[in-house]
Amino acid sequence: MWFRRFGSGDHNKGGGVRVAAFYRGRGSTPIALPAMSTPASPSVLPFLARATAIAVSGDSEAPPPGAWFDAHTHIGQNDPDGQTATPDEILAGLDAAGQQRALTFAMHEPDGYRGANDAVLAACEVSDGRLLPLARIAPRSPDAIAEAERCLDAGARGFKLHPRSDAFVLTEPNVERVVALAAERRMPVLFHAGRGIPELGFAAVELAERYPDARLILAHAAVSDLGLIAEPAARLPNLFFDTAWWHPGDLLQLFATVPSARILYASDMPYGPGLFSAFAALRCAAAVGMSRPAIELMIGGQLDRIIRGEDPLDGDPAPAKDALGPRFLPGERVASYVSNAVQLAIAGDGGNGGSNLREALELARSACQTVGDSPEDAVLAQAAAVLEIALEQARSVTEPTVELLTDAVIAALAAGYLATTPSAGVLPDPDGLLVAAA
Ligand SMILES: [Zn+2]
Repeated sequence: MWFRRFGSGDHNKGGGVRVAAFYRGRGSTPIALPAMSTPASPSVLPFLARATAIAVSGDSEAPPPGAWFDAHTHIGQNDPDGQTATPDEILAGLDAAGQQRALTFAMHEPDGYRGANDAVLAACEVSDGRLLPLARIAPRSPDAIAEAERCLDAGARGFKLHPRSDAFVLTEPNVERVVALAAERRMPVLFHAGRGIPELGFAAVELAERYPDARLILAHAAVSDLGLIAEPAARLPNLFFDTAWWHPGDLLQLFATVPSARILYASDMPYGPGLFSAFAALRCAAAVGMSRPAIELMIGGQLDRIIRGEDPLDGDPAPAKDALGPRFLPGERVASYVSNAVQLAIAGDGGNGGSNLREALELARSACQTVGDSPEDAVLAQAAAVLEIALEQARSVTEPTVELLTDAVIAALAAGYLATTPSAGVLPDPDGLLVAAA
């Protein structure tokens, strides 16, 4: 249940987190749906939690202390997309996922970032070192550079720039000035690189080349330009990609074509729950055969070096493009229907009172059908069981609600990641959650 509210009790006074808003674009209409009722079926998150822990730590369930360092979380109350998050909610989200630290920065603030940056700096100050502040800078604001310098003096550890919601392009002089400031202090600059960012990629590559001491992080697996810049990134030790994204195909391409040392684990809380994001990243890592040291670098070790101003480590080369093995057609079918379901959930009500979403989930489950008993078939059977949970959650309301869609969406995405990564094998299910669902 934690992902609805990121935790429990005192940590959560903010009214919950609407994860059906999962990666919804900035500026789209906020979701306004009826209040939720109690879900009829179990969450898949305990299952994902255990699978994630085991993937990190082998047989012992404890990940290395201090291992997790989320590169991308937000706090704020004024984003036009309707999403909000308090520092306590982010901390509770970390706790729920068994994670230690996060970079955090402001959500979109239409009236400017000075107050929001101060709120981030203040929240990080009292977080016992668990939250580390990036200053959000709007390069077209008249005081952009003064604000950047002010925040550095006040303890910011780098910058966040959002070309879409703050309406600028990377080739503008103030963007370069911010990157130059970061380079002087060997600090990171995190760029939104998701939807709606035309021609981000080469500009980011050029900035990384010109400012080798700046550490540029392209958020959301750089889905806007991943195919263009994966190859240049391989030879640029200061160009990174964060994993805060939902689509299995995108993350798999990232993990298969970018060197592991350039990939930084991130959730985008409150838009993406930490535990689900961790599961997705580790599943992709397993699918491309990422080594244990490389995984530790990806989930936080590299970001720890970056934030200390140390040189990033240079790990293994990118896996070969065929690292994922031969095409696995059932998995591709599952992932495409799951993506349809997610888009319908993002649109707000699951389409046609939720029936379109349910139909997409049913088709995804149908794509898991098999009569074989190969290892791949076992993974499909597990994905089908997860989809059954998703369907039960989607069916259990006559009026779709945000939070029930959330349960369904997270389960469906988990099934999508399973089905597209058969080489990573079935996940442990000691509590029999999936057996009960099948
Ligand atoms: Zn974000």
